[in-house]
Amino acid sequence: MLTRNQCLKILLVEDDLADATLIEDLLGSFSEAVFRLQTVTSLERGLACLEAEKFDAVLLDLSVSDGLGGSEDLAVLKARSPTVPVVVLTDSNDENTALSVLRSGAQDCLVKGRFQRTLLVRAIHYAIERQQVEEQLRQQAIRERLLGQMIEHIRSSIDAASILQSTVAEVRQFLNTDRVLIYRCQDWASQFDGEEQKGAIVAGDGLPDGYIENQNINAALAVSCFFLLESQSVQAIADVNAAALSGSCKELLADCEIAAVLSVPIWQSGDWETANQRLEGSIWDAEKNQYAAENYLSLPAVGKPHVQGKSAPDLERENRNNLWGMLTAYNCSETREWQQWEIDFLQHLANQVAIAIEQSQLYRQLAIANQKLQELATTDGLTGIANRRQFDRVLMLEWRRLAREELPVSLIMFDIDFFKLYNDFYGHLGGDDCLRQVAKAIASCTKRAGDLPARYGGEEFAIVLPNTSAEGANIVARKICDRIASLQLPHARSSIGSYVTVSCGIATAIPSAQQSPDILIRSADSALYQAKTEGKNRICHASKPESSPILM
Ligand code: GH3
Ligand code: MG
Ligand code: MG
Repeated sequence: MLTRNQCLKILLVEDDLADATLIEDLLGSFSEAVFRLQTVTSLERGLACLEAEKFDAVLLDLSVSDGLGGSEDLAVLKARSPTVPVVVLTDSNDENTALSVLRSGAQDCLVKGRFQRTLLVRAIHYAIERQQVEEQLRQQAIRERLLGQMIEHIRSSIDAASILQSTVAEVRQFLNTDRVLIYRCQDWASQFDGEEQKGAIVAGDGLPDGYIENQNINAALAVSCFFLLESQSVQAIADVNAAALSGSCKELLADCEIAAVLSVPIWQSGDWETANQRLEGSIWDAEKNQYAAENYLSLPAVGKPHVQGKSAPDLERENRNNLWGMLTAYNCSETREWQQWEIDFLQHLANQVAIAIEQSQLYRQLAIANQKLQELATTDGLTGIANRRQFDRVLMLEWRRLAREELPVSLIMFDIDFFKLYNDFYGHLGGDDCLRQVAKAIASCTKRAGDLPARYGGEEFAIVLPNTSAEGANIVARKICDRIASLQLPHARSSIGSYVTVSCGIATAIPSAQQSPDILIRSADSALYQAKTEGKNRICHASKPESSPILM
């Protein structure tokens, strides 16, 4: 804004000598120097003057001889010097001319011979102020557009590290400061549960090598963070040397090469912990109950979690106590008077960063939860190997794949001999333990990547062996029977020996797209039945029925 007693430099573009003299008289008639007037007689010279030095305002004759005439001269001038305020001087008292020049960027329009000194001086002053306001609005619009773009950028990602990094880079460029960083402050709460989390720079732009690891810098940033937490406000220091800070604090800042600094807090939403607890609770419930896991899996696929749109002020009001960290911009050697809009801008961005971090944390938790649920839904709770659901899925996939490739698939089905009696004698917990041991033996004998050992149900197990012949499957089954025998699990009620034994049924087929894999299961099952009827503790192969893909 204009200050009193400020001497204004005015450029007059006027080729009519009489008109020029009149203006010079009007502006030169003050007792003290209020205006410094420079007169040129052509538009071309006027443009050259504006290029050479700065003028506070231009008085432009619309009918200057070398011009194009009318508002076109003004357009030329505004194109070359867009921020200079212009008062147009015209011969005609025509409303349309006045409107047209105002629309072309002039701040005012005066009709020659119709104004006195007061009106001219007022027009110049208003023109200057109006231009300043217009410029401020223009700058504000640019800032808002840029802020919008940055927020959009932040929101478009769920990867916290890339959000933080792009934020510091954009802030540094926009505020034109030497360095910008995001500091994650020490988690004071974690000190008490043993997992102490120390403060650290998590993103930075313009930082020299080794800066992040420097202990002094971390100490200085920790002090600043503490200040933000205590003051519940921002830290804006225009000149570290002149600031009201303790000597040691100044030393710390000087060590970090900080001459002028602006730090704003990143407040952590109180929802974070509760959201995590909710998720953990759900997983625990699911672990207790396989059906719960399946229900969870039928939920829509996890996408970017939607966090209720929280406006910045809300976030500020609710979460004043949990400081996550701070966003800091600073100059290394030059002092800087931080503008209010710069403080507001940085705080607004920090609030958006807080929301983005929250989203990213939730997303990560959800991804982990989803993975856990996926595991729960596909494994058998008692033995830890694949469950029936996974067995069905994999067998179907392999059946289709091997039908295309015209390669064989084998299926081995195992059933523990006299297991009902085992349970009766050793109790259900003893029985469960036996199942775990047998499952472990089965899993340890299947080594190829595509092999799938699974608990088929009760005390029955199955192994899908893709691209494996009947002979190959026989070797695997033999190995498993031997391994179980070598465990020498006592079975006091078995009528065929002192230890736990299994019976096996094997079926092998080259799958056909027209048939379902049920045929393979039925064949392996009847081979198992045969093993049982022939005296148990043995391996039987399915015989090849007519018009079936089963191989012998
Ligand atoms: P066979 O030698 O002919 O196979 O006789 P079996 O007694 O092993 O066969 P049957 O199918 O009659 O009995 C299977 C028993 O397995 C029934 C049940 O007591 C037991 N069982 C099934 N699932 C579990 C389980 O998860 N834990 C325990 N402990 N026992 C189970
Ligand atoms: Mg059985
Ligand atoms: Mg049995």
